[in-house]
Amino acid sequence: MPDSTYKEQLETWDRGHLWHPFTQMQDYAKEMPLIIEEGNGVFLKDVDGKEYIDGISSMWCNLHGHRKKEIDDAIKRQLDKVAHTTLLGPSNIPAIELAGILAEIAPKGLTKVFYSDNGSTANEVALKMAFQYWQQKGLKDKTQFVALQYGYHGDTIGTMGVGGIDIYHKVFQPLYFKTHFAPAPYCYRCPFEKQPKDCSFACLEKLEDILRENKDMISAMIVEPLVQGAGGMITHPAGYLSGARALCKKHNVLLILDEVLTGFGRTGKMFACLHENVAPDIMSLSKGINGGYMPLAATLATEEIYNAFLGEYSELKTFFHGHTYTGNPLGCAAALASLELFDKEYILENLEPKINHLRTNLKRFELLEHVGEVRQCGLIAALELVKDKITKEPYSWVERVGIRVCLEARKQGLLIRPLGHIIVIMPPLSIKVNELDIILEITYESIQVVTRDRE
Ligand SMILES: *Cc1c(COP(=O)(O)O)cnc(C)c1O
Repeated sequence: MPDSTYKEQLETWDRGHLWHPFTQMQDYAKEMPLIIEEGNGVFLKDVDGKEYIDGISSMWCNLHGHRKKEIDDAIKRQLDKVAHTTLLGPSNIPAIELAGILAEIAPKGLTKVFYSDNGSTANEVALKMAFQYWQQKGLKDKTQFVALQYGYHGDTIGTMGVGGIDIYHKVFQPLYFKTHFAPAPYCYRCPFEKQPKDCSFACLEKLEDILRENKDMISAMIVEPLVQGAGGMITHPAGYLSGARALCKKHNVLLILDEVLTGFGRTGKMFACLHENVAPDIMSLSKGINGGYMPLAATLATEEIYNAFLGEYSELKTFFHGHTYTGNPLGCAAALASLELFDKEYILENLEPKINHLRTNLKRFELLEHVGEVRQCGLIAALELVKDKITKEPYSWVERVGIRVCLEARKQGLLIRPLGHIIVIMPPLSIKVNELDIILEITYESIQVVTRDRE
């Protein structure tokens, strides 16, 4: 633990030089910075020695807890061989092994693995693959995309172009290519004001209208399967994904599934699309890929996509894309260790009781005056706070109600981060039931404290 003088120095440097992502730095400067020094299991410890439960898996990526011995050892072993070599030309052992395993566990048909280093680049690669695929198939007008309202696929200009969250994406509008936005199946705030029981998927009908009218111009649909993460942990009704899959096939449009958040057990299965037996043409993976240890991502594609890029060198059909740290051996070694843990520790099998426990214990949140909806998919939970439960009037952005709840939770030893007025709970898959109870207890208390304050 740093002594108090050094701690003050760290705080000064943090405020002075570190520009934090997705953070209003004017507010940040007013609060005491939380500086993490170490982690162990689902706990993180700050420079004062105070412990917190990592309630959002260090931004939705940690799976097995911190300092997981098997992953630590795998990285150390690889470090004794080599830290980084390039995939532009040569190959490396962990990258080869991981590609083989990913192809084995992936939904049917996804046999080709293209590495990059984060979720945004995994999706950027997916979009470029889909685009170039059609160019090389001779359908040169297929240059546009379909995405969902409230969708989030990353922060590069390309992936922001298919993003549907106004507060993040609107300001950059002039930089984007053409994307058609279909309504999100956000049943709590159904854009058609219908009830899930008898809506007959009006949202899919609207999607079909878009596809039918523009199919000659659309190359691919990109969608987060089952849960739209950054858009508010919007959980989709069963049947939406398989419906969208069928419509894409019918109208000759590729389907890109962004499993950056939902992949690797988060929803209870290895990949979310397996819940509906859907296999996409392209799939992006990142966050959980190596248990949340190092930057690594992969874009998986079918033989059909891959084959369209084969040709004589002079034909320029090559996929001219690649990053310096593509297929980094340390990241891939960590991923291999993480996937081995899925087998050795029966991760998916052991999730079932935790998911059920979460479901049962989220019930009481529904009774809270300012909780409009409780959403859950696997070990992902979200509580949508509303000013008025009857009218569903949301809290306004400026009230910072989500931030206030999370600051209260932090005081009580829980680290969570909101999405506006939506409180997100997404612990590592390794969480124990009693630890899950602590998270729920503190979250409940914090919501009560903050929303009571406001009345
Ligand atoms: C986090 C996320 C991304 C972006 O990943 P980064 O690694 O932050 O670039 C893309 N898609 C989804 C669904 C995500 O949750």
